[in-house]
Amino acid sequence: MAGGLDLSRVALKHRRTRIVATVGPASSSPAVLGELVAAGVDVFRLNFSHGSHETHAAAYRGIRAASEAVDRPVAILADLCGPKIRVGRFEHGSVELEEDAEVLVTTRPTWGGVREDGRVVIPSEYEPLARDLRARDRVLLADGALCLEVIESDGAHDIRCRVVYGGVLSDRKGMNLPGVPLSTPSLTEKDRADAEFAAGLGVDYMALSFVRSAEDIEELRALLRGFEAPPAIVAKIEKPEALHDIDRILQTTDAVMVARGDLGVELPAEEVPIIQQELVAAAVLANRPVIVATQMLESMVESPRPTRAEVSDVAWAAASGADAVMLSAETAAGRYPALAVQTMDRVLRLVEGWQWRHGQFRGLERLRQDGRNPVDQALSRATATLSRDLRVRAIVVPTASGRTAKAVSAQRPAAPIVPLCVSRTVWRQLSLYWGTSPRMTSEATLQRPPEVALSIVDQMGIAPPGSYFLLVWDTAWGRDSWAPTVSVLEVPADPALPLDDDDIL
Ligand code: PEP
Repeated sequence: MAGGLDLSRVALKHRRTRIVATVGPASSSPAVLGELVAAGVDVFRLNFSHGSHETHAAAYRGIRAASEAVDRPVAILADLCGPKIRVGRFEHGSVELEEDAEVLVTTRPTWGGVREDGRVVIPSEYEPLARDLRARDRVLLADGALCLEVIESDGAHDIRCRVVYGGVLSDRKGMNLPGVPLSTPSLTEKDRADAEFAAGLGVDYMALSFVRSAEDIEELRALLRGFEAPPAIVAKIEKPEALHDIDRILQTTDAVMVARGDLGVELPAEEVPIIQQELVAAAVLANRPVIVATQMLESMVESPRPTRAEVSDVAWAAASGADAVMLSAETAAGRYPALAVQTMDRVLRLVEGWQWRHGQFRGLERLRQDGRNPVDQALSRATATLSRDLRVRAIVVPTASGRTAKAVSAQRPAAPIVPLCVSRTVWRQLSLYWGTSPRMTSEATLQRPPEVALSIVDQMGIAPPGSYFLLVWDTAWGRDSWAPTVSVLEVPADPALPLDDDDIL
């Protein structure tokens, strides 16, 4: 301490916050995928807004190979584009919109550009557009950089608009209609085809964009039911309607994403930090992993160094309790994909080291009152308390379905969680959960949990002689009953090797 400030800096050895990286032209080669895995990516996102089934299948194979090469679980998340509305294409690739000019937005199949009478035409393939829009509605273009106001819609194809904020509009830019109830389903025909393709590949997670209600998740779940190992579902929260149905969405989905890109266009940008904070807290309370996404290190698309504001954004997303932070264009199309992941890794481990020293991993301040899984909850809370009080080095959790490991992760204990998995699907899916370092093992080995746990912590070099670790296990494993317990185990002491407190991280 100096002048009341803690000036010591310790990076955690085992990063707790997970890194999700988007695959794209800058990162889809086997060599770069290998570099990104080495840099610490836990989950790769295949973005179905771009690319073809062939490019996604090739990336899928590359990721699986890179993960196997290092024997570390890396999950794959297929992100369905949902009813993302976009402008069409322009004769010259782009068009200039002048403030106060009148423009025509049309769903007729045509190229965009400047007509002979000087009026700009903006095409869109979103067929119900003219029916959904009314006079005075706002149409935001290119992530909200440009804005139109509707003068009149003919209810069929054509919408006359006035330019409120102008600029250059290029091919295929996004279009948002804040506050306008859309008549399209959340799962489009393209999404259905993409979902079946990605589930057939064997992805671990599937994200649904522009979720509006719990029914949207149920629809995707029904579509995936027939697959042998259906992917877990991530609800992307980017519409105000989703915020109003968030309790039901959290009960229905397996994970959530704070999709700040579209959220900050659909709602005033100044609301995004508050929504982020509230969503993270609500998701952790509901025992659902939460990913904070978009523009986290955006300047690294072009530059080898992030801005200070971006570094702060990543650090505070982690400090506020998110399970994962996500890179989009930084790894998909940027000049420094591996450097972006390494930067994120360093920022996270340093802020986590500071949190660890100050006992500030945010566990649940209150128990869920919904009466679901009370034993999991209470046992995990006890585990988190023991992890702090005894400064344990690891928490070993033999887990068949992943349920116990997920419940322990939600309590944000002070030591790394080591789930011992018998299913490769569970092994990979757990890599999205805060604080976990999943290991594969065999059913036979799990008949002797304390011995196995001791040998795992020894192999990992995580718990030196004389330290404690926890084992959260089912004492009736392999029988029809369930008798979970948490045991405190001590690694046999070696008086020649006194414990070094700083090594605890
Ligand atoms: C977002 O809007 O923040 C987001 C993650 O969605 P996408 O990148 O698919 O538009």
